[in-house]
Amino acid sequence: MKNNKTFTMIKPDAMQNGYAGLILAEIEKAGFKIIEMKMTYLSKESAQEFYKIHKGKPFFNDLIHYMTSGPIIAAVLEKDNAVSDFRKLIGNTNPKEAEVGTIRNMYAQSIDANAIHGSDSDENAEIESHFHFSNEKN
Ligand code: ATP
Ligand code: MG
Repeated sequence: MKNNKTFTMIKPDAMQNGYAGLILAEIEKAGFKIIEMKMTYLSKESAQEFYKIHKGKPFFNDLIHYMTSGPIIAAVLEKDNAVSDFRKLIGNTNPKEAEVGTIRNMYAQSIDANAIHGSDSDENAEIESHFHFSNEKN
């Protein structure tokens, strides 16, 4: 994968609060093209696999419980410098520290329920995209 794609999930709190459309609008306004998208649920097993890097941390069980608490929207996005530009657009993991105008500043509740995921490297963008979408163009 070139450095022009990233993977995102709109997380259960944002779905529950009715922010999915507003968040997708912010993503498109920022110049990202949605090239794959689906509404789905994470099973406990798939959430544990997705977040396995955090296994053993104090918040791991709460994170899995939260990520499986309702539907999510998974999507692959395209833009130059997709990974870093998208991390800037979503803001700090903790919404209290997220810059004004970022998605987490506007739509996240707390560090546990922080509205949206964005891949943290090109390598992980590819792994995470294939986790949800099998299409070869990813
Ligand atoms: P994400 O991977 O979901 O995009 P992130 O890359 O900003 O978020 P990570 O460090 O990968 O942050 O953590 C994954 C998720 O685990 C966070 O989005 C958050 O919901 C949760 N998390 C991380 N650190 C903490 C913490 N100290 N306390 C509670 N939850 C946390
Ligand atoms: Mg992360």
